Amino acid sequence: MRPFEYERPGDGHGAVATMHRPGAVFLAGGTNLVDLMKLGVTSPELLVDITGLPYHGIETRDGVRIGALVSNTGLARDDTIRRDYPVVSEAILAGASGQLRNRATVGGNLLQRTRCRYFQDVTKACNKRSPGSGCDARDGEHHDLAILGASPQCVATNPSDLAVALSMVDASVHYLGPHGPAAISVHDLFRRPGDRPDLDTNLPPGSLITAVVLPECPIAARSRYRKVRDRASFAFAAGSVAAALDVRDGIVHDVRLAWGGVAHLPWRAWAAERALRHGPATPEHFARAAEEELAFAKPLRDNAYKIPLLRNLTVELLRELTP
Ligand SMILES: Cc1cc2nc3c(=O)[nH]c(=O)nc-3n(C[C@H](O)[C@H](O)[C@H](O)COP(=O)(O)OP(=O)(O)OC[C@H]3O[C@@H](n4cnc5c(N)ncnc54)[C@H](O)[C@@H]3O)c2cc1C
Repeated sequence: MRPFEYERPGDGHGAVATMHRPGAVFLAGGTNLVDLMKLGVTSPELLVDITGLPYHGIETRDGVRIGALVSNTGLARDDTIRRDYPVVSEAILAGASGQLRNRATVGGNLLQRTRCRYFQDVTKACNKRSPGSGCDARDGEHHDLAILGASPQCVATNPSDLAVALSMVDASVHYLGPHGPAAISVHDLFRRPGDRPDLDTNLPPGSLITAVVLPECPIAARSRYRKVRDRASFAFAAGSVAAALDVRDGIVHDVRLAWGGVAHLPWRAWAAERALRHGPATPEHFARAAEEELAFAKPLRDNAYKIPLLRNLTVELLRELTP
């Protein structure tokens, strides 16, 4: 590991001000950043420790405002979250381990980097880590990589389970940017890789996430998260589904659907939602709707299995949510 400086700013504006210094990065729980430093994927010159900043609370008013430094465990265990947004709690508990979740923060979870093995191996070509170097994943070991929204430059997936649940509930992310406080919808926060896979998000450089806001979302009280992975714990999603369903007299009145492990961003399944609404709450209809969304998929040599996986997982979860 290379030498670096370390600072603990006293407030959010002070933290953002340090970001004009070369090689400065925010340090929250460190569970992703420090690993990447050890691997040589990133070599910051200044770690700006934000854990002392006052963003540790969860407030309930017109929805829920979650401080960026709330731990993953604290969020998953919160009574309001478990009652009104169970999908958020389940998504967190489907990831990492108890120890990691105790340390990891909400802001850090959203900005964790991809787990693509070519990104993490500095001896391999990766446009995300080293723009213009190429993408060894395309013809390499890519069974866990993207089938939706990828580009010739990058087939990495977003690793965050929490982000998938936040997409399903239309959350927004509040931040302190170079021009002061601002907010962005979670749908606009994450991006497709296009020809700039080095950019994971649309946040202005040097921005500090201060909170995530969940809007009031009555349908989310009947929501769930399902994840398929290579092993039972400590593994990222091969595919995951966040869903909420409102069925009245056998007809889908309303639905929310987002997928994880399949794209550079949490994939909100808008086409499937449109196909589902006002149709019968039957497994056949659920499968047809999932297939409408999956028509956009462009699998690689070894990851076409994700298409039936996503369809079946979606059908299974919607069946569970059907009264
Ligand atoms: C073995 C293992 C298994 C895991 N499994 C899963 C899993 O299955 N699912 C899953 O979703 N996650 C999983 N994780 C990832 C884990 O959830 C993340 O490492 C964690 O959430 C990151 O949070 P952190 O606070 O430690 O972030 P850090 O490591 O401190 O930071 C991560 C990034 O976010 C930036 N950052 C942090 N906070 C802010 C902020 N407030 N504003 C702006 N930038 C910020 C940092 O600069 C850094 O770039 C796993 C991790 C490990 C090590």
